[in-house]
Amino acid sequence: MKRKVVCMLMLLAAALFAWPVLAQNNEAGVRVIVIDAGHGGSAFPGAVYGGVKEKDINLAVALKLGALIEKELPTVKVVYTRKSDKALGKSLNEDLTARANIANEAGGDFFISIHANAAPKATSVQGAETIIMGESAKETKYNEEVLYDNNKDELIDMSDENTAAMVRAYIQNLQFTYGEYSEMMARIMQSHYQKGGRKVRTVKRQLLKVLYATDMPSVLTELGFMSNKSELAYMNSEKGQNAYARMLCDAVKEYVGHIDRLAGVSTPVVAAEPAPQTPAEEPKAQDSKAQEIAKPQPAVEKKVEPKSEDKVQSGYTIQLLASDKKISSKDSQFKSYRSKVECYVGGGVLKYKYCYGSYPTRQAAQRDLAEVKRSFKDAFVVRYEGGNIVK
Ligand SMILES: [Zn+2]
Repeated sequence: MKRKVVCMLMLLAAALFAWPVLAQNNEAGVRVIVIDAGHGGSAFPGAVYGGVKEKDINLAVALKLGALIEKELPTVKVVYTRKSDKALGKSLNEDLTARANIANEAGGDFFISIHANAAPKATSVQGAETIIMGESAKETKYNEEVLYDNNKDELIDMSDENTAAMVRAYIQNLQFTYGEYSEMMARIMQSHYQKGGRKVRTVKRQLLKVLYATDMPSVLTELGFMSNKSELAYMNSEKGQNAYARMLCDAVKEYVGHIDRLAGVSTPVVAAEPAPQTPAEEPKAQDSKAQEIAKPQPAVEKKVEPKSEDKVQSGYTIQLLASDKKISSKDSQFKSYRSKVECYVGGGVLKYKYCYGSYPTRQAAQRDLAEVKRSFKDAFVVRYEGGNIVK
């Protein structure tokens, strides 16, 4: 019995410490970016002020951002959760899940959800802010009024004990996987909002369903406050939407540059076209700044050939147990999963990971997890690539 406990502790330790320093999604650099225009369709317009609907602002900026990325980072694939005015599900939960599923199925390396904020009771409040998945220790009363008014339905309900425990375990894992990348991107985005002359607020943590369900670094950004007249006018203007797309694209390029350096790869960058000369107000400085920011990234030392590992089989599986030595798949310790387990190699002392099943998405694996847990109560979902457990 005692031995079993020790084994389980070791398994847990191996699971916790086996995460590679570089999140698996980033090992080959950033290849797929998922852009999510928040809300959509007649059922989910988002905030509505002065006849302007949030869903329309979100979509306009999302499409402009995607077009810039496609032009300036030609090897990066852009995937949209929606390219038109439509909802992705009948209920809000379905809608949010569908967005995350699109991102996960596309194998996204990064997820950006675009929204606009509202503070009905404080119309002077303004500024861009970016939210990452997490539980803030002290949500101020102000936040509750301002943000929760707006995002309430999109937050995970933590009143259920089981959900809360699962979510908290997930957040703890985040620090070994995507957390720092999401935070890095959030900070970069905020700095580009500032460079673009926008008021900025801080990077926040919230328990947002859509971020929870995406299996990649992810952020939700609020461009500005629709409840603030001048920010609403800016967000609703062609000029403002172009500027937001520019700021976000520059942020994406900076983020990709960081990931490239970490991964020792190089993503080709095409310089941005100078902003079009609009006859009136467009300040001259804007042009030179756009060019300066868009200068090709400093060449990275190590050039790598285009990845051939697209061919490598990858997906999700359920890890039943780990061992420091090879075990026959017919071994009795696999109980009813005898001859059904695959052996993968992962980190830690117990490097042989015995797993059941192969699933395209984490959610799909999660659905079978409960059944597996009847026999292996510490089983959990992992991602594999080729014969390796990567997370
Ligand atoms: Zn929104």
